[in-house]
Formats: sequence, structure tokens, C-alpha cells
Amino acid sequence: MAPEIKYTKLFIDNEWMDAKSGKTFETYNPHDGSVIARVAEGDKEDIDLAVAAAKRAFHRNSEWRQMDASKRGEILRKFSDLVERDQTYLAELESYNNGMVLNNAQAFMNSAKGTIRYFAACADKVTGETIPADGEVFSYTLRQPVGVCALILPWNGPVFVFLNKVCTALAAGCTVVVKPAEQTPLTALVLAALLAEAGLPKGVVNVVNGFGPGAGTSLTHHKDVAKVSFTGSVEVGKLIQQASGASNLKRVTLELGGKSPLIIMDDADLNVAVPYAAHAVFSHQGQMCIAASRLFVQSSIYDKFVEAAVKYAKTIKVGNPTDPTTQNGPQIDETMMKKVLGYIEKGKQEGAKLLCGGHRIGTSGYYIQPAVFADVTDNMTIAKEEIFGPVQSILKFDTIDEAIDRANATNFGLAAGIFTSNLNNALQFSKHVEAGIVWVNTYLHFTPQQPFGGFKESGIGRENGLDSVLAYTEVKTVAVSLPKKV
Ligand code: NAD
Repeated sequence: MAPEIKYTKLFIDNEWMDAKSGKTFETYNPHDGSVIARVAEGDKEDIDLAVAAAKRAFHRNSEWRQMDASKRGEILRKFSDLVERDQTYLAELESYNNGMVLNNAQAFMNSAKGTIRYFAACADKVTGETIPADGEVFSYTLRQPVGVCALILPWNGPVFVFLNKVCTALAAGCTVVVKPAEQTPLTALVLAALLAEAGLPKGVVNVVNGFGPGAGTSLTHHKDVAKVSFTGSVEVGKLIQQASGASNLKRVTLELGGKSPLIIMDDADLNVAVPYAAHAVFSHQGQMCIAASRLFVQSSIYDKFVEAAVKYAKTIKVGNPTDPTTQNGPQIDETMMKKVLGYIEKGKQEGAKLLCGGHRIGTSGYYIQPAVFADVTDNMTIAKEEIFGPVQSILKFDTIDEAIDRANATNFGLAAGIFTSNLNNALQFSKHVEAGIVWVNTYLHFTPQQPFGGFKESGIGRENGLDSVLAYTEVKTVAVSLPKKV
């Protein structure tokens, strides 16, 4: 049975409201393309209202700013209990609106409590320092919340990215306006309702659905927004940097795309490496920024590995995300499905060998059979551009030095992985690969304690870890003149 749609309006100042224009837009179920609901479409006027609400909530005399940091942590802990209470519903809604396999959505919801509680515990750990300054002064630093933050979300992990960004900002004491992706507007509204139920004062978290040009640009150009944290494409990330420069130099954190290399050395345990390499690129239908979309396999084991990879890919069951035996669901929408199929065509045209999959399944919904390409070379489009679909591209290399150089020959630098039983190879690769996170004999291993983000065009700044909370603060130095040094 389809999950109930409880909220479709904008959430501003802890109230549900229609867009000022009265406009709405449709949101879909990627399983069959059917319309789930019509959702209020926010634009500049609504963003102005939401930012004004967040600014009031950030006033020095507001309930939020006067609240003890530990109480902010308590509200987040209460929120984690409510998310746990409603986790089945949230997983169903995420799967329904995003096409995420229900089993995966449930597994994620099982870990959500830990993520929220991590940031809850950070709330009263943000401290300044005393400074041994020259002269007759007592000097110290304060770490203060930066102000109103715009949090702009992608469609591929709506609950995951919402929780990460919102909880980090709240732990630091900021107030926020969230702009979910237009493809997946629903779960953010449920989470906003749970934050209000947990006792968050009005105006601290506001959610305005809408499109990039419109709601998104109004936020990134807004003079009262002090910071924007964005997860999405490199192309839009660059526009956000420009908007910052053109408006008020708002602080910018960017989590962008990737073309992540995974290296398989000939001393790796193939029984482990083959399934890991498949999960690393096929999970969530390949719609992961950290997808291992360049798989480098050492030449001495190349043919054997390719054979095993094809055998494995053929076992992946693609189908309705609510079926508990399904491993891969649909792509998010028709546009993305066509884009991925276009890349697969391009791969064939440029001479890569398609060994399995790569075609649309059926005519309803946006399903693609996982594809494995062999004989991929560095100059091919499928080895250079982010595909964001279930496409495994297998390249051949001879030495670890060559693998490192080729892994780094890209403008991206998000994630990287290596499977090897040689410690020296693992450590050499980990040191020299240009990536924000490196996995050795594993992949896709995230926790809220581990900083996450990209080198090069994969982003600016890090999420997760205590440092990510500090990125929502400003450092203020205070110097107090004293007659005698203390
Ligand atoms: P996108 O860049 O098209 O959209 C992301 C968000 O930006 C949406 O909310 C959209 O409405 C908004 N937006 C679009 N144009 C805008 C503008 N001009 N100004 C302000 N906001 C605007 O990305 P997407 O297709 O939703 O997500 C997929 C991309 O996200 C992939 O490239 C993927 O790698 C990346 N991603 C990165 C991470 C990470 O942590 N590094 C995580 C998930 C996804």
C-alpha cells in the first residue's frame, strides 16, 4: 500500500503555508512514473519569508540563541527518538518518492538515530581557546554560529543529506532554510514536522520546496544568508560559488560529483573484491556521488576478474523497490534514465566492450539492467564523466604507480578504493591518491565520525566529524586590556 502523504506545503516559522504564487508542482513515483502528489512551489517571495523567519529565530534575544547548548543537544536527541518511532514510514516514503530499494531505505533509517545523536553530542563541545597573546591583554576566542544557513539538497539521498546538514547546523546553533531537490520534496517535510514536535522553536528550521532557478537562486543570492551548504552537481556548485561572490561572500560548503577510482591489485582476494566492486558502483542504481565508476584491474588478473564481474552483475535482481528480494530499483526519472542510456551508447560507439546489461527493462518506470564494460580506456567518455547510473567500467593497469597516476588524472577527487593484501601498496595508494576518502579492502563505509568531502572539483569543505560543526561557526578573537599580564 502506498504511504500516506501527510505534508505538501511550505514549512515556514513552524507553520504550513501555500506558496505566495499559489503554484504547485507534481512529484512522481519512479517505479511507474505515476503522480504521487502536488507540492507547493516556493519562489523568491517564499524564500524571503523563510529567511526572515530564520533571521528572527537567530536574533540574540531569541529563544534559540538564549538556549543552553546542551538543550540544543537534548532537542536533537528527542528528534532522534521521533525519527526512530517513524522510521518505517520514512523508509517507505523515501522509497516511494526516490525509487530507493526499501531494504536499503530501512537499513539507512536504522542508522539515522546514530547520526542524529552524534551531532546532538557535538552541540556542547564547540569551544574557543585562550590565546597567549603578546602584551598586557587577556585574549580568548569565541566560536559563534555563523547565522542563517541555506541547505540545498540533491535527490539521491534526501533523508540522509537532510539529517546530515540540518543536524550539523543546529548543533552549531545556526538557523536554516532547507531547499530539497524538486524530484524528492516529501521526506524533508516529514522531518521538519518531527523537529517541531521535538520542541524546536519556530523559525529555526524552514523548508521551502521549489526549483533551482527560483527557490535555489533566491537563497544563494540572499544577503541575509550567511552560509550555503550544497550537495549536488559540479555545474551547480560553480554557480553557487559565483552567487556567493556576487552577493555577500556567504560561506560555501560544496559536496559535488565524482568519478571515483577503485584499484584491484593481483594479490587481492577476488571472492571479496568482486562483490565489493559491484556494490561500489551498482548500489542505489549507481546514483551515488562516491560510485566506483572507474574500476582499475591489474593486467595479470584482468580476464579472470572481468569474467567474475559479469557473472556477478547478471545476478543482480532489478525490480519494484518494495519487493524484499529486489537489489536494484529504478533510476530517479526519465531524464536521468535517458542520460545513463546515452552514456552506455557512447561507451559502445567509442569501442568499449559491453559484456552484459545496459538496456532499459520494460516500458513502465525507469529501470536499467546493470551494465559491465570491459576494455575501457582513460580517454573514453564513460571513463571521464559522472554517469550516475548502474554502469561498471573496467580498465586495465600494470603497476601501482601507473594506477595512482591514472586514478588522479581527473578533475574529480571524492572517493577512492584499493583491494590488496600488500600493506605497502595500500599505504602508498592512500597517501598519493587525490580523494577525500580512501577505502582499503572495503568501500562505501561511512559513519558520522568520519570527515567526508572532496578534493578538486568534487567539493569544498567536509561534512561529518566535529570539524563539520565548526564549519558552521565563526571564530571571534577578544582582547581585554589589563594593567598587568595574567
Ligand atoms: P543538481 O546540482 O542538479 O541539484 C541539486 C540541488 O540544487 C537541487 O535542490 C536543485 O534544485 C538545486 N539547484 C539547481 N540549480 C540551482 C541553482 N542555480 N542555484 C541553486 N540551487 C540550484 O544535482 P542533483 O542531480 O540533484 O544530484 C546529483 C549530483 O549530486 C551528482 O553530481 C552527485 O554526484 C552529487 N552528489 C554529491 C554528494 C556528495 O556528498 N559529494 C552526495 C550526493 C549527490
